[in-house]
Amino acid sequence: MKENMEYVSTNARIPFRCERCARCCRNLENALMLDPFDIYNLSKHLREQGQEIIGTEDMLAQYAHPNLLEGIYPIFQANTEGEDHACVFLKDDRCSVYEARPQVCRMYPFGVSPGERGRDFYYCLFREQQHHFGAGSVKVKDWLDANFPREARDFLKAHYEVLPELGKALQALGEEQYKGLVFKILYYLYFGYDLSKPFLPQYRANMAELMKLLKEEAKEEPACTH
Ligand code: SF4
Repeated sequence: MKENMEYVSTNARIPFRCERCARCCRNLENALMLDPFDIYNLSKHLREQGQEIIGTEDMLAQYAHPNLLEGIYPIFQANTEGEDHACVFLKDDRCSVYEARPQVCRMYPFGVSPGERGRDFYYCLFREQQHHFGAGSVKVKDWLDANFPREARDFLKAHYEVLPELGKALQALGEEQYKGLVFKILYYLYFGYDLSKPFLPQYRANMAELMKLLKEEAKEEPACTH
């Protein structure tokens, strides 16, 4: 478990109050990971705000950068600006994409991790911003009802189901195979979305195609060099 993090029950009450200080939106260099649903939502929102965004790749090119998790899993992280590494979406100390902010921002100071034994999720509390705690009172369940909507839950459940299998399939690729497939992997994970259509069916179809592709590749060259 991370420092300053504890698991919480949905019935717990936490003495928390958002001070709208925007401190949670600073010091985020390589820290704010955008999942496929965040990327879709941000792209759609910015397009609706009049920006020239046709697909998710246009949003990512302007506001995010790629990275590798554990040397193998491709991710995108929000860009930051200035000496305090403020989130690229923080403008005049306010979130400029509030309605479409990433799920981790919606949930904060709570977080979510995969559940076990019939539970979809575990919930946790991050206490690193100590000044938030002491005043106010938040029931975890109420916070989740307001900030973890059904669509986000359905996505995250599907995402947590596919990630272990996807991780294994990526690990099994040889280095040259991985290099040859990286664009397709990025496409199915992050780019292959029509912003005018619902997200989840597209995500499920993309993951099915990606897993099929990786399984076919594994048959061709079982060597593992990672
Ligand atoms: S997306 Fe909005 S809420 Fe999240 S870190 Fe950036 S400015 Fe803050």
